[in-house]
Amino acid sequence: MEIRTLGIVGAGQMGAGIAHVAAASGFDVILTDIESGVLESGVETIDRNLDRQIKKGAVDAAAKGEIIARITTSTHVDEHRRADLVIESAVESLSIKSEIFRRLDELCPAATILASNTSSISITRLAAVTDRPDRVIGMHFMNPVPIMRLVEVVRGLETSEATTSQIRRVAEKLDKIPVECADHPGFVSNRLLMPMINEAVFAVSESIATPESIDKIMTLGANHPMGPLRLADLIGLDNCLTVMRILHDELGDDKYRPCPLLVKMVDAGRLGRKSGVGFFSYDKA
Ligand code: NAD
Repeated sequence: MEIRTLGIVGAGQMGAGIAHVAAASGFDVILTDIESGVLESGVETIDRNLDRQIKKGAVDAAAKGEIIARITTSTHVDEHRRADLVIESAVESLSIKSEIFRRLDELCPAATILASNTSSISITRLAAVTDRPDRVIGMHFMNPVPIMRLVEVVRGLETSEATTSQIRRVAEKLDKIPVECADHPGFVSNRLLMPMINEAVFAVSESIATPESIDKIMTLGANHPMGPLRLADLIGLDNCLTVMRILHDELGDDKYRPCPLLVKMVDAGRLGRKSGVGFFSYDKA
């Protein structure tokens, strides 16, 4: 089966980014969210980011209208019954994602592949709520999606070889580089990245250095393009905390305990870029 129509559940920063690259790569896109306001702002973000790409010469100005026209938005998950592949990119919650997978399994044709952009939730567990565990897989995109080349392809215990090859081909068509790994807490990217971010938060709470200095040390000293705290703000501190909790619960090692300051910031609604304030302040416009 050729994948032509791509469904995306969740139009937040990642869902909108995936919709952008999918439409720019020629897929018809169905983008859904429970909030109509999020759908509107998602399409506005895509519009703005396309303008930025046009200015840089990365996208042809004449193609912009066609790219936007390939994206249909809706608050009804049932629209995904037309999709050949659905990528779930809703909030990082096992109960919410399980419910979405159960519903997609009921309404999508048997051949449809169901993927999740989860940062840390077990693909095997999501697959187990469906009657098609061989056609469930992780497609872990990186933020910002239009810029970052990696797609971590996560194989659940029952994911078939045919599903994996099809997803590798889709990732390549999106101009991304697929790299496979097994379904294990945090996969590879967040097993390594999140403990580093968590440690940077400990460094702030222990007054070892200011957030600015910590980031400067890692950009200048380790040649990272962005410091860990600015990256945490970009990812969303709520997402970082959820991943740390999953690493801690599922691997059972206290080295993964979330820093209390991270918990406190999430409790206070300081989620980073999306809320306007995290370790740094942002203009929300
Ligand atoms: P976000 O908070 O920006 O967006 C999540 C969206 O999901 C919201 O718009 C919300 O309205 C929507 N939503 C909630 N429940 C829903 C439901 N039942 N049906 C449809 N939509 C629903 O979050 P995000 O940063 O875009 O993260 C989305 C997913 O991508 C998470 O699983 C996250 O772990 C993963 N991820 C995030 C990053 C990152 O850097 N932020 C990177 C890779 C993967």
